[in-house]
Amino acid sequence: MAIAIENAEFTRDTAFARIKAIVGAKGWSTDSDTIAPYLTDQRGLFHGECALLVRPAATAEVAEVVKICARASIPIVPQGGNTGLVGAGIPDRSAVLISLGRMNQIREIDALDYTITVEAGCILADVQSTALSADRLFPLSLGAEGTCQIGGNLSTNAGGVNVLRYGNARELVLGLEVVLPDGRIWNGLKRLRKDNTGYDLKQLYIGGEGTLGIITAAVCKLFPNPKDIQTAFVALRDLDAALELLSRSKSASGDRVTSFELICRQPLASAIQFVHGVRDPLEEVYEEYALIEFSGASTNSGMQDAMESMLADAYETGEIVDATIAQSDAQRSELWRIREAVVEAQAFEGGSIKNDVSVPVSRVPAFIRQANSAITTLMPGARPVAFGHCGDGNIHYNIAQPIGMEKEAFIKEWGPITKTVYDIVVSLGGSFSAEHGVGQLKLAEMDRYKDVLELDMMRKLKDALDPAGIMNPGKMLAPRS
Ligand SMILES: Cc1cc2nc3c(=O)[nH]c(=O)nc-3n(C[C@H](O)[C@H](O)[C@H](O)COP(=O)(O)OP(=O)(O)OC[C@H]3O[C@@H](n4cnc5c(N)ncnc54)[C@H](O)[C@@H]3O)c2cc1C
Repeated sequence: MAIAIENAEFTRDTAFARIKAIVGAKGWSTDSDTIAPYLTDQRGLFHGECALLVRPAATAEVAEVVKICARASIPIVPQGGNTGLVGAGIPDRSAVLISLGRMNQIREIDALDYTITVEAGCILADVQSTALSADRLFPLSLGAEGTCQIGGNLSTNAGGVNVLRYGNARELVLGLEVVLPDGRIWNGLKRLRKDNTGYDLKQLYIGGEGTLGIITAAVCKLFPNPKDIQTAFVALRDLDAALELLSRSKSASGDRVTSFELICRQPLASAIQFVHGVRDPLEEVYEEYALIEFSGASTNSGMQDAMESMLADAYETGEIVDATIAQSDAQRSELWRIREAVVEAQAFEGGSIKNDVSVPVSRVPAFIRQANSAITTLMPGARPVAFGHCGDGNIHYNIAQPIGMEKEAFIKEWGPITKTVYDIVVSLGGSFSAEHGVGQLKLAEMDRYKDVLELDMMRKLKDALDPAGIMNPGKMLAPRS
């Protein structure tokens, strides 16, 4: 596979011919219909182009392709399941798009080590179900889990509904295999829980959005598969009660709260109105709700008693005004279906301006109140849709268009609306991107809100590891002017 052609002769055409030979007929395409699904993001905000779609089947193929791109100075965009929400995996015209979907082998599962070694193109749901077949839990869980790939999850440092107990993707990885921007393969597939031998290099790639290299495999942590799960849907007295209830839940369960999701009335009402099969879980209408889950590892972990007595105490003190506890797996699924439907329903409300933000947990109520007031002052009739992983301080604070307004006119206000929200977030010590990343969507915010010294350190890392700047250029860090 060595490249015998000198730099001077190494044209794009020569490079493409070499790449096609390396990956074989199943591993590339220039057909516009085949490529089309890779070029538009989930929300339809970004539309790209690419010179060549490459679908390698092995790490060695990825490495050879990257070496050729490096020699010919061809930009590379890695892509997983293309479920990202910030346009980070959408290529531009001159790029080679490397899709990892064919690299989908589970290399090893070790129940004693509580680890699973997977290739980057494994679908998240497949990693979860393989772990389950060994009576283990891979806790990363999010709405796109049937499509997104572990390489994409790690590159975006994905969060989801279990972060409260198990952490972000960043905390679920022990080792990585990465193809560097010059084509060398870094085999960092360690299974060590302790390794203090210098910088933790894998963390550069987790959340790196493919700007420093291509993750080809990972060793991920597994956990005992919980046998005692209790799920409740409660109506809160008010937003402040969410904090009191979260704190009470942690103590009552012995810190076994796996999820604590906040859902305000507007998103619940939309889910009931627009998504088939979703119904109001409580008899009366309330303004704020929480979906709470406790998980114990063994069948006799006492989670039922803990949940029931916690809710009784919370009712007594007035933190909650109503509640229902799932009595079966079917009822539990029904409660979680509401949470998923909240996301789906927004498409039926017309234009939606999305904000994935975080603040310290204790400031969630202040954030929602301040943002609701500022947004409805800025645009009377705009409808704040607040929901999300409240237990981590991560709120999806979306704005639905005023009823009757033209969708295009509303979307044009994306800039002023998000600036209003982010200014409040930052004033409360928060982040303008909690779990979705930066990509192309939030490049301007990086310059506006990110600490100057942090940006400088990030640029120096990028220059050191990708001096030619071929790896996912123009994502996360704006091109230098
Ligand atoms: C319905 C829905 C619900 C969602 N819920 C959540 C949620 O709760 N929490 C959350 O965090 N996100 C959520 N997301 C966002 C999205 O699913 C995640 O960001 C996911 O981790 C992206 O994985 P992917 O395989 O689709 O990556 P892609 O979209 O393909 O790529 C994302 C980024 O990773 C890079 N990349 C992909 N694979 C590799 C690789 N092997 N090596 C290097 N770089 C790579 C790409 O270049 C790009 O920068 C949701 C999305 C949808 C559509």
